[in-house]
Amino acid sequence: MGKTTGFLEYKREIPSDRSPEERIKDWNEFHDHFPEKKLRTQGARCMDCGIPFCHTGTEISGAASGCPINNLIPEWNDLIYRGQWKEALQRLLKTNNFPEFTGRVCPAPCEGSCVLGINNPPVTIKNIEYSIVERGFKEGWIVPAPPKSRTNKKVAVVGSGPAGLACADQLNKVGHNVTVFERSDRIGGLLMYGIPNMKLDKTDVVQRRVDLMAAEGVSFVTNTEVGTDYAVDKLKEEFDAIVLCGGSTRPRDLPIQGRELHGIHYAMEFLHANTKSLLDSELNDGNYISAKDKHVVVIGGGDTGTDCVATSMRHGCRTVTQLEIMPQPPEKRAKNNPWPEWPRVYFLDYGQEEAKARFGADPRDYCMMSKEFIGKNDRVTGLRTVRVEWKKDSNGRLSPIEIEGTEQVIPADLVFLSMGYLGPENSLLEQLGVERDESSNVRAEHGDFRTSHDGIFAAGDMRRGQSLVVWAINEGRGAAQACDRYLMGQSNLPN
Ligand SMILES: Cc1cc2nc3c(=O)[nH]c(=O)nc-3n(C[C@H](O)[C@H](O)[C@H](O)COP(=O)(O)OP(=O)(O)OC[C@H]3O[C@@H](n4cnc5c(N)ncnc54)[C@H](O)[C@@H]3O)c2cc1C
Ligand code: SF4
Repeated sequence: MGKTTGFLEYKREIPSDRSPEERIKDWNEFHDHFPEKKLRTQGARCMDCGIPFCHTGTEISGAASGCPINNLIPEWNDLIYRGQWKEALQRLLKTNNFPEFTGRVCPAPCEGSCVLGINNPPVTIKNIEYSIVERGFKEGWIVPAPPKSRTNKKVAVVGSGPAGLACADQLNKVGHNVTVFERSDRIGGLLMYGIPNMKLDKTDVVQRRVDLMAAEGVSFVTNTEVGTDYAVDKLKEEFDAIVLCGGSTRPRDLPIQGRELHGIHYAMEFLHANTKSLLDSELNDGNYISAKDKHVVVIGGGDTGTDCVATSMRHGCRTVTQLEIMPQPPEKRAKNNPWPEWPRVYFLDYGQEEAKARFGADPRDYCMMSKEFIGKNDRVTGLRTVRVEWKKDSNGRLSPIEIEGTEQVIPADLVFLSMGYLGPENSLLEQLGVERDESSNVRAEHGDFRTSHDGIFAAGDMRRGQSLVVWAINEGRGAAQACDRYLMGQSNLPN
């Protein structure tokens, strides 16, 4: 432990973001960064607890508590306090293949379970993680490190999101010949075409890692959908093992009256096209859905909805409303959500902060149920809603009850549906004939990752359902270990 009394002496401090008014004028990342002295002070707040809950990575009440990849957080906090950055980087890379992604986009369940957080603001773990890895790149400590020798085994990884990339990275490290297939034109899965550029830069951050992996010997094949452009039988014949990392991409629909009107889109149609056009032409090709001067309604109060709000803000929307059917979370942890659980509390995420700065209020409206899309000349013009209250039914289950007299019509030129995902797409999985679970995900136990077919493994959202980047990395690493063991009879890879 660096400074025994650090947590008593220093307050939590994180770098301020660029102001919302300024950052909505561009698509650049919005986080600013701390100088070394401040980072060392923040590292000194870590108490090096006897039982550091921050790196447990267990699930409590359906959410992660502690870091799902078991990052050795107290160790690197201590090293940062002492100014030993290279050693801190070595510790970090033992458990995390891509700290530059998690250091930017992870919701940081580690901080929700930091022991200091019981009665003080937690250690700034995520920001320290970010700073360690970016220092590593800047100093030239992170360079291509291809394996010293190759096995003669060939592995196909289907899907290039964080699960596929983590799996490929691990398998390549132990010398297997890995090919990653991706149907999109760029590698990265939702790192590339889901999470917007202002949260995670595509060229400087995502592509930097892809280039590094390519230089280490991983082969990437884009514009190739396995099961359509590349036959499943060919894949089985040409590779010794297959790891399925195709994500969970079937969006939940809202089949209410008027759904067929133009102007109603799934969130990913909006986000994917925007990032592609931004990267291809800085939005000059016009191949995206523009929210400029439009009344925008986002249905769904989660992270994807927030990304739609932030993207609409950058287009220059006329208004933006984000509807959530659940009640507003409390300002502080509720009694049934104690530490070290993930804190389900109200906060302004970046998109809402930007909308508030421009329009004066948080765009989210809670306890709102959508009843009907209204339109004119085949285009959506409004959304009829009603307010609900959540009451227990005779079985003790909470359900939304409409409140009489609260119907209203919200003007809407564009509606983005952002209500979660139903599971992976069917075509490839049906061709492979792998078993599915009751949620339609690929059936494979966490920690084992074997599907019902010999030599075929599954990881990430395709196995666990829509989740987080950090869980995808956890699963990609675990599947790599299982695959290596299958190929070699044993494995020295960590999971
Ligand atoms: C808009 C949005 C924002 C998000 N923001 C965050 C965030 O801020 N922080 C966070 O932690 N998580 C976030 N998430 C969740 C996170 O991105 C996912 O949990 C994570 O990317 C899942 O990784 P994956 O590798 O399992 O799948 P994905 O990232 O979905 O990658 C799967 C890839 O497989 C490809 N594929 C599918 N089938 C085939 C096939 N047959 N052949 C070839 N390729 C195929 C797909 O094109 C895709 O590129 C967000 C999700 C969305 C939708
Ligand atoms: S990966 Fe996420 S949970 Fe783990 S240390 Fe980093 S921010 Fe925390």
